[in-house]
Amino acid sequence: MERLIPCPGCSMPVSPTDDPTCPKCSSPVLGHVFRGLLEIDVAHSGESWETARSKITAAINQGILHGHKGVKIIHGYGASSGRARIRNEAILLLRSLASATSGRLS
Ligand SMILES: [Zn+2]
Repeated sequence: MERLIPCPGCSMPVSPTDDPTCPKCSSPVLGHVFRGLLEIDVAHSGESWETARSKITAAINQGILHGHKGVKIIHGYGASSGRARIRNEAILLLRSLASATSGRLS
């Protein structure tokens, strides 16, 4: 069931997925931060970096769409390429995504 959130304009409880604007005051509801971190798990069980990368990209898009305050990526060792590669590639990807979405990498 969808959680109601207070409208950023008038505090009326609204469902951001039903209606991207508040029915009472027409404030935009989508795009405001109203959820915690979205967590994803990548590069476990021999997953390749390519698979991990598409998961990360999808999670960030979902996080923006649904108003999560951020996306937390939990990564494993990945396939034979090892942890160092996954980590370095992920940081590079996140940096470019962060600047593209005016986000912040922490
Ligand atoms: Zn409102």
